[in-house]
Amino acid sequence: MGWLHTARFLTEAPQLQHLPALDVPEIAFVGRSNAGKSTSINTLTQTRRMAFASKTPGRTQSINLFALGKHNETDAVLADLPGYGYAAVPKEAKLRWQRVMANYLISRPNLRGIVMLCDPRRGLTELDEILLDVIRPRVELGLDFLVLLTKADKLTKVEANKALSIARLQTGGGSLKLFSALKKQGVTEVAQLLHQWTHDANWTGNGTQHTASNHADSGSHNDMDTDVASDIDDHADRD
Ligand code: GDP
Repeated sequence: MGWLHTARFLTEAPQLQHLPALDVPEIAFVGRSNAGKSTSINTLTQTRRMAFASKTPGRTQSINLFALGKHNETDAVLADLPGYGYAAVPKEAKLRWQRVMANYLISRPNLRGIVMLCDPRRGLTELDEILLDVIRPRVELGLDFLVLLTKADKLTKVEANKALSIARLQTGGGSLKLFSALKKQGVTEVAQLLHQWTHDANWTGNGTQHTASNHADSGSHNDMDTDVASDIDDHADRD
């Protein structure tokens, strides 16, 4: 079984103080509501409902942690942060969550990497850019960072290349990957990359001393057995 497929629900934290202190590396998944975050997490972990692909976007306002590791020994954690930017959420709640998220990203001690999900047909939005500004200092100190351009199956090759170029400019040269849960595009590479991020022997826990490269070249995560793609509704985008 692939390492990411060991994902199991650990806890839900409606506020930062509810997050357990952990000494294993953590990877946060962030993204605008409807970016495809839940579907991507479910595809990567080979679960149908690990991250709840809610039909009421913006509703799940908690940080959900999932433990990873074979033989029930947790060696890393995935953090699913609430999607942001959904119009129907009251402004106050939005602001509160932006603060919680920013605080989490700035201060979570065991945070090892961030995966930002973005629907390339929308591009990076203003809120994505605010988030990029928030995490930039930590990325400069060595935090790993990847932008996944989701729903790549909806793009022609020309559109995909254009989306990559635009996102490259917007993220200032960070790691980018086209991803499609429907077509399983990028799944193996992302799984390998996350494994690499969290199993870097040089990592000290404060994100300041590590030598991880962003090239996926280790591990094997090909043993897919659940087909979450069947859950993806090609026409059900909410915006
Ligand atoms: P979230 O709000 O970021 O968690 O987004 P969801 O995972 O709920 O996905 C939003 C919409 O995009 C849903 O209708 C999904 O079925 C659709 N979606 C997600 N990933 C893909 C994909 O790889 N390809 C296609 N065609 N649709 C996708």
